[in-house]
Amino acid sequence: MQIRFATDLSADQYVRRRAWEEARLDNCPLHGKGGCGFASHGTYTRQTPKGAKIARWYCPDGHSTFSLLPDCLSSRLPGSLIEVETVINEVENAPSQEAAVYGLRIDVGLTGVLRWIRRRLFLIHTTLRLLTKLVPAFHDCQSSISSFKAALGVEYVLPALRMSAGAYLYVLPPPIGFGPRPQRKKGKKPPFQHKTGTDPPLKRG
Ligand SMILES: [Zn+2]
Repeated sequence: MQIRFATDLSADQYVRRRAWEEARLDNCPLHGKGGCGFASHGTYTRQTPKGAKIARWYCPDGHSTFSLLPDCLSSRLPGSLIEVETVINEVENAPSQEAAVYGLRIDVGLTGVLRWIRRRLFLIHTTLRLLTKLVPAFHDCQSSISSFKAALGVEYVLPALRMSAGAYLYVLPPPIGFGPRPQRKKGKKPPFQHKTGTDPPLKRG
């Protein structure tokens, strides 16, 4: 299970300062009164950003692992939230997704980049659409980065949403939330016929 590690460090700072060493989880999220054998469970290494580790804890009674994900990093996707937002912002402001690709330096070929972008666009737009329904302050927002940026008055929307989503974090999809990946509607074809096996499988606990 993922838990917020509340921090305003950027992804670079998080790695440079080895901030996972300062992450703390004092009580078991499942057993507030303790007695379950809850203890630190070392760290695991993320592929990106390079050198980043995530602190984790384990509850033997609940057979559950808890990972403290810093606010700067994407959940269930590589890299930082600002990286994701930068790309989506680029796409929203480009005449087409293909045009946006040429401004991006992602070295996986055009088809790969489009797939990379569409997967993130789908997740972020689903998240923003959910927030317009769940949070009264966002009722009048469009499901776009620019609309939320105007409503929040911040430089980067995605980290701000991670920090302010509260209990909704467990409903919202990655890379902001800790909830399940949304499914595309039946009958609605994905833009590419492709395998979706490159991300780690959804695993709770
Ligand atoms: Zn426990």
